[in-house]
Parts: sequence; structure tokens; C-alpha cells
Amino acid sequence: MKPLSATGRWALTGGLVVDGSGAPPRLADVLIEDDRIAAVGPAGSMPADVPALDAAGRVVAPGFIDSHTHDDGYLLAHPDMTPKVSQGITTVVTGNCGISLAPLVREQLPQPLDLLGPPDLFRFASFRAWMDALRATPAAVNVIPLVGHTTLRVAVMADTQREATADEAARMQALLAQALEAGAFGMSTGTFYPPAQHASTQEIVSVGGPLLQYGGVYATHLRDEADHIVPAMEEALLIGRALDCRVVFSHHKLAGGRNHGRSRETLRLLERAATLQPVCLDCHPYPATSTMLRLDRVRIARRTMITWSQGDPQARGRDFADLQAELGLDDEQLLARLSPAGAIYFLMDEADVERIMRHELAMVGSDGLPFDQHPHPRQWGTFTNVLRTLVRERGVLPIETAIHKMTGLAAGNYGLADRGLLRPDQRADIVVLDPQRVSDRATFEEPIQASVGIDGVWVNGRCVWDGAQATGALPGRVLTRGASHG
Ligand SMILES: [Zn+2]
Repeated sequence: MKPLSATGRWALTGGLVVDGSGAPPRLADVLIEDDRIAAVGPAGSMPADVPALDAAGRVVAPGFIDSHTHDDGYLLAHPDMTPKVSQGITTVVTGNCGISLAPLVREQLPQPLDLLGPPDLFRFASFRAWMDALRATPAAVNVIPLVGHTTLRVAVMADTQREATADEAARMQALLAQALEAGAFGMSTGTFYPPAQHASTQEIVSVGGPLLQYGGVYATHLRDEADHIVPAMEEALLIGRALDCRVVFSHHKLAGGRNHGRSRETLRLLERAATLQPVCLDCHPYPATSTMLRLDRVRIARRTMITWSQGDPQARGRDFADLQAELGLDDEQLLARLSPAGAIYFLMDEADVERIMRHELAMVGSDGLPFDQHPHPRQWGTFTNVLRTLVRERGVLPIETAIHKMTGLAAGNYGLADRGLLRPDQRADIVVLDPQRVSDRATFEEPIQASVGIDGVWVNGRCVWDGAQATGALPGRVLTRGASHG
């Protein structure tokens, strides 16, 4: 199958359409006109004069929405977005876990802000300026931008190791209001991390005040995903009620052996909450997580692998325990030697991961860290891993359910009216894949590898992935909350 680079009016014929709503696959032809889907009809229904691409034996689906990313700066630095388009992703949510690239101009970056890339990317004093830069030099994929509360703290507070004063909270609130006015989709927090850990519930409600007026979501990397996860979830739900907005539980997980199996309890809590207020979650299919190197994670993980280290660049890809044994250091000494650094932590239970992925509130989000030298494989493989392992190998998710989590469900939760479904008048974000072959290739040992079985990806009607490589087309748009996206 050779994807068309043509624009204008063309058709995908004879494919198995999985439309993103969760409805079962059906044989259908899809007519595309410029950046829109013009018609979806029975196989053989396309006009004869329209150039057609034969999709027989392939699944034709809406382009995937990566519900959780840290691609804010990578979009500008690597606009072809190969790690994402190669797994079928056409839209990314940015600014998660409390950290967004804007609004912040800073040369010294406290962790975890450095996960977003080098300091020279932090050059946007306003959120709108970053959005405008992305419009001036677009990427291959569309962007759903969130504003990070940690970024606001670092922008406004000289000392983040305390609660914000009323004046500081008011200044953060004003920055958030400006970003929402510019079209941001909501706010994220990351009170798990040092620069935000001293923020109280009241501070977050106060800073998030503009969400009451503008709408949008509240996405949270919880204060605690281990022993104290339940009170942390209750805090997030309370903030959601106070701000009258949807709560997105980021990368929902149970960390550490003591908490394995507790997803039954946390998912029940979310189900009960969902009867009272809008909630959802994002997750990826791996039993390991990744973030900055910190001992509270090392100590509850089965295994810790270094993804990058400023203190000892040679440590990347190595196991923390092996380095400790080799160097004869205790964990605090090794932390001091490696920092600042990043790591992958094997600390989740496979059964929890599968239970969460299968839950009806769960969207798919990679949470990839694009600038890591030895990244977690989720950056290149999350979506194709789900299609390989949960759909094809284990048979625990029907393909239409897995694709719904990657498309229509995410579009609904973020309020996109014209993406996420393969239906007339939706934007032409499309992925064509081979259901028998589609696979991730990125592994913990060899994490930088493109997937196989993604035969073509189109964003706003233009082909960005031809089955083997990024085409170089950069048709992505910065989406704005509540707009019909032009
Ligand atoms: Zn996070």
C-alpha cells in the first residue's frame, strides 16, 4: 500500500473502518476533501473519477490522540514528530504533570522542568507567544495545550519551597487567565514534584479560578501514587468540584509492591466519583514509569534504569543497582554522583496496568519524555504496544474499544467537536494500519525504534507518515478550546 501524497479529493477504499466511537469495524469507503472527511459510504460507493487508495485488509481509523505528553518543546525542535506519527498519533496533549514550556523565560531550570528540553526552549514570556511560534513553524501533529501550575510557580515565585502568598497566587491566576483566553484547554498540576509540593489544595483552587469562567480540564499528577493515593485522589476530586471542571487523572498507577492490586479500590473510587462529577484517566500499557531520578522511587522499585545523567553521562541505560555494586556507593552517594538525572522505575503490577487500561474511563497517553537519551519505550511505542499486546496477543480489548480510547473518548474528554471520529465533517486525521502486523519495536533496551504496521498517517488531510518514514509535511494545528478548529 502506497499512501497518496495528493491533496484535494481522494478516497480510501475497501478498508475496515473503525470509526472511533467504539462501534464494531465495518467495510466502508472514505472520501476525503482537502482537510475534511466528506463521506463514509458502503464499499464500492466512491465516484469513479476520484483517485483511490486501496485499503483492503487494513483498518482505517481516526488519527490517534496522545492524551498525555511532554512534547511542548519537542514540537518546535523536531517538528516532523517521528516518534509520534510513526505510531499513528495525529494530536498530542501538552503541558501535563504541572510542567508546560510557557509562560516561562529561564536559563536555570529546576527539575522536573528540564524534562521538557534544554533551557533555550524556555523563551516564551506568554502562553500565546508559544502558541504563535507553533503556528509560525508548525509541527506534523495537532496540539491540545495545557498550562502547567509548576511552570506558573517557577515564573512567579522566587522560592517555591513554600505555599504561594495571596499576591503570588493572583499573579499565577492572571497568567492562567491569559493562557485560557488564548485558547489553552486547561491546567495541570504536579504536586508530586519539589517545585509544587508545597502548594496547598487552596492554592491550586485559587490559581485555577479562571477555569470557572473559561471552562477546560484539570489534569493532575497526584501528590502520591503509592501508599497515600486515596487521599491524593480525594484532593483532586475536591479541586475538580471547586472549579467545576473535568478531572483527568494522569498516568493512573499504583506504585510499589505494597500497593499492587489496589487498582480495584482506586477504580471503584473513580466510578463512584463519575456519578457526581466529570472524571477520566490516562494510562500507558507498561509496568514501568519514568521521571527524574529520586530515591523515594528507587526504594520502592523492583529495578531502576538510568535514562540520562548530567553527573555521569556514561550511566545512561545502566541499572542503578549495578552501578551501586560496581562503584561501592550507597544510594544517596550514587544519587549525588548522577544528579541531575532521569530514570525508569519498574514499580507497577502487570495486573493493575491491564485492569486500568481496560477500564471504560481510561484513555491512552504515552507520557513520553522526548529529550531523554535512553528514553522509556513509551515515547515511541505506547499506541502500537496496546494494539499488539492487549488487542492481538492477549485478546482483552476488542480493537474498536482500544481505538475508541485513542480517539473518540479522548476527543470527548478534551471537548474536540471535529476530531476523534471517522465521520463526515470531521477533520481528516486518519491512520491506516495492518491489524495483523501492527507492533511496537521500542524496548527498554532499545527504546528508539519506530513501530511497524502503521501504513499511513494523515493530519488535516495531508500524509505525514508513509509507512516507513515521516514525509516532512507539517500540517499540524494548534487547537483552541471551544473553537471549531479552522
Ligand atoms: Zn506525570
